[in-house]
Amino acid sequence: MPNDPDALDDDDEPRDEGRRRKFRELECPECSAVTPLDDGFGDGDDVLCCYCGMEFRVAVSEGGRLKLRES
Ligand SMILES: [Zn+2]
Repeated sequence: MPNDPDALDDDDEPRDEGRRRKFRELECPECSAVTPLDDGFGDGDDVLCCYCGMEFRVAVSEGGRLKLRES
């Protein structure tokens, strides 16, 4: 059995990004302001609204839907 490091990425399915989806705009659930984040953010990241200063923990569902929870 070859020891191929690329084999560890076999859950990388290009047809659907799902939870691995990255977002570049935070739409704040508190104040509805949109904060552009050029570095992108995804599941498990913490993001800060530049308008009201609220911080949110990012969760991305299996279907690639963004959820924000106050952190
Ligand atoms: Zn806000």
